Amino acid sequence: MSAREVLLYPDRRLKEVALPAQSADVERVEADLIDTMDSLGHCVGLAAPQLGELVRIVVVDVSGHPKAGDHNGRLVLVNPVLAGSEGSKVGREGCLSIPDLTANVRRAETIAVEHAGGSFESSGFEARCIQHEMDHLDGILFLDRVASLVDDVFRRKTYSG
Ligand SMILES: [Zn+2]
Repeated sequence: MSAREVLLYPDRRLKEVALPAQSADVERVEADLIDTMDSLGHCVGLAAPQLGELVRIVVVDVSGHPKAGDHNGRLVLVNPVLAGSEGSKVGREGCLSIPDLTANVRRAETIAVEHAGGSFESSGFEARCIQHEMDHLDGILFLDRVASLVDDVFRRKTYSG
């Protein structure tokens, strides 16, 4: 259990489809995801494949983020499935695995999620983060979702962390 290095694009493991998490994986991978997220102060979410663990586990915690709004606190999602979605909105996203770019990405505004621990609804910024992290489980990066690689992708002006 420790903070680990986050894989950077174009590491090929970021493009793989992760396998369902088995109970033997869960405790160790969850702990590493949480420790890594906490070690990066500004981090609102992380997916197991970003640590090179190709299993379907993500953590999201938008509490304290200026864009947060309503949220569900610290979420540890094992084998999450998008059970429903409503609305759509374009918003700016970044990714620890692609640290020098941000992009405008269209996402559902409200989602229903089922996971090993139950089910819940989320909206706004938290729902965006959950969708971003769940995409990592299918080898999808936010750049794969931009409408235009010319108009919707931006180089970060400053580096943080
Ligand atoms: Zn990401």
